[in-house]
Amino acid sequence: ITILAIESSCDETAAAVIRNGREVLSNVISSQIELHKLYGGVVPEIASRKHIEKINQVIEEALSEAGITLDDLDAIGVTYGPGLVGALLVGVAEAKAISYVKNLPLVGVHHIEGHISANYIEHPDLEPQFLCLVVSGGHTHLVLVRDYGKYEIIGRTRDDAAGEAFDKVARAIGLGYPGGPKIDKLAKEGNADAIPFPRAHIEGSVYDFSFSGLKSAVLNYINSCQMKGVEINRADVAASFQKAVTDVLVHNAMQAVKEYGIKKLAIAGGVASNSSLRNAMREACEKNNIEFYHPSPVFCTDNAAMIGVAAYYDYINGTRHGLDLNAVPNLKLGERQDQPQ
Ligand code: ATP
Ligand code: MG
Ligand code: FE
Repeated sequence: ITILAIESSCDETAAAVIRNGREVLSNVISSQIELHKLYGGVVPEIASRKHIEKINQVIEEALSEAGITLDDLDAIGVTYGPGLVGALLVGVAEAKAISYVKNLPLVGVHHIEGHISANYIEHPDLEPQFLCLVVSGGHTHLVLVRDYGKYEIIGRTRDDAAGEAFDKVARAIGLGYPGGPKIDKLAKEGNADAIPFPRAHIEGSVYDFSFSGLKSAVLNYINSCQMKGVEINRADVAASFQKAVTDVLVHNAMQAVKEYGIKKLAIAGGVASNSSLRNAMREACEKNNIEFYHPSPVFCTDNAAMIGVAAYYDYINGTRHGLDLNAVPNLKLGERQDQPQ
């Protein structure tokens, strides 16, 4: 089975060719980061326009790198939510056009299902069920992956997503956009125990997260330093903030694997490439006898390979979408809001 996958939910225009579920024949990503940097974040209108400019070229590259043409495909997979509606529509319209012209089955994919499925690419032995901590720019979910395509969200953030917190704190200490990778790098030069930032645990719901209090604590710390005329040590702030996020993520994930009696833990999403999180989670897993999985950084942030993997499992489970497939900006994981044909 050969699948062409398309991803355009945010600021990456991406296409990939996946064979038999887990083999990546090509993975082309055109990032708009340089463009949005000017504005300190993603500008939806600019993102949509850029997707339109890039999408055909990205697909052509993905096919040629894979050494195939549209005639060799068995299906088209595409992200149809969640994400920016205008951005999603570009990928969805493109996928529908190819599906129509080449008479190929169309499989709409949930973006977060894609992030989770990124783990299958480099771990041929990984199969459900397992627990997955999804930490991306817009989501922080603890997901119980019961089976392919069967997800149960057991914990979620009450406010900011982990990636969002990274980006906001990075902006506050003048690191620019996107902040995650920059904090990761700067933190290596800092002392993670220098500043006692809070670890939020939510009364009554052990698996939920909250990062807005931590973000405020960092902003207050910066303000109070400025008021006292003390120069802040940016590396210490980065390291201490990163440690506070990591501690909570690891703590809740470990609670969940123990409580649910699960022996496998995966992480996914852009923040899953964070070195402090990876190290802390690996250590905790070793201590608790849990198998730990994480994708390479290129499969953590947005890409189409992960969408192709998810599309494959949806495809063999019988999911088909019609040409009425629409973008669903607030699509919920595990709750299909459309009618598969
Ligand atoms: P979502 O997947 O929730 O729709 P998104 O697609 O924008 O959101 P991703 O592409 O999964 O998010 O991840 C981007 C986020 O990951 C950004 O917030 C970015 O700062 C963060 N990130 C990337 N690399 C790192 C890193 N090394 N450390 C911490 N955060 C990181
Ligand atoms: Mg992005
Ligand atoms: Fe994403």
